[in-house]
Amino acid sequence: MTSSIPLWRQIQRENFTRIPPLLDFLELSEELRKRSILPSPRFPLNLPRRLAAKIAKNTLDDPILRQFVPLVEETVQASGFTPEPLQDSSFRKSKKLLKKYNGRALILTTSSCAMNCRFCFRQNFPYETEKIGFEEEIAQLSQDASISEIILSGGDPLSLSNDILSSLFQTLDAIPHLRRIRFHSRFPVGIPERIDDSFLSILAASSKQIVFVIHCNHPREMDPDVIASLKKIAFLGIPILNQSVLLKGVNNNPEVLLTLSEILTNSGIIPYYLHAHDPVEGASHFALPSSTGPELIRYLREHTSGYGVPRFVREEPGYPSKTFIST
Ligand code: SF4
Repeated sequence: MTSSIPLWRQIQRENFTRIPPLLDFLELSEELRKRSILPSPRFPLNLPRRLAAKIAKNTLDDPILRQFVPLVEETVQASGFTPEPLQDSSFRKSKKLLKKYNGRALILTTSSCAMNCRFCFRQNFPYETEKIGFEEEIAQLSQDASISEIILSGGDPLSLSNDILSSLFQTLDAIPHLRRIRFHSRFPVGIPERIDDSFLSILAASSKQIVFVIHCNHPREMDPDVIASLKKIAFLGIPILNQSVLLKGVNNNPEVLLTLSEILTNSGIIPYYLHAHDPVEGASHFALPSSTGPELIRYLREHTSGYGVPRFVREEPGYPSKTFIST
């Protein structure tokens, strides 16, 4: 008998969510475990096996490990690092609708992700987790003709079932002043199987222009399976953009960012933004001097095509757009 649970959901259930089995899998020495690993993190561990398999054994010096494995540095209380650095709660129009910029609004579709990134600026966000539907949000969007683009974010909208996504897309389709749906997801780099035929048919059926935005920080997150899943989306005529976050110990290296840019552009994906890291509490170990980003962008400009150079930006609460950091 075949299972009615989609393949991607079965794969997701194999994510590492407990620390000891992950540390065994990474063959981390007792000494490194005791010295460096946070055994009971407030923001839980959640790591797809395919990403864990890319981590070098018995070392902490690995760009994927640093993004997903809780380290004792998370307990450091650093000045200027706060639970909600972007103050998203203050931009709520309803429990699941944020409006920060003219012409755009964002639906917090879910609190769940394919993976939990240790640097996530929404790791403390008080998500609405009891109400399943989006009636209130749809009602607000329908009444505000100034909004032409809706951003589906979270969490990760691909954590929702295809049935829920299909219904959401159909509802959005019926709002005439909405012209674009921007879909933000990190699933393709963690569980590329999530881009299944049923999801592709939801995208294909939409009358709106869809823009698909992935989040990839290091070239090792990309591989042929990830790229193949994204090509299926691109085949529908949907532009794919990547946004990265600049993180100490992950991608603060010119060659790393250049390689990432080359892999993305060779795959038809535009490197869109390089975000300065948001100062969220518990993630001060990812911070870099303010000169690092501009230096890296200058290097990229000198070594690759203009469309392969992301815009280096910072988000500042209350500003009418992202702040473009001069390079
Ligand atoms: S996938 Fe995005 S929303 Fe989810 S934990 Fe990572 S950065 Fe945060």
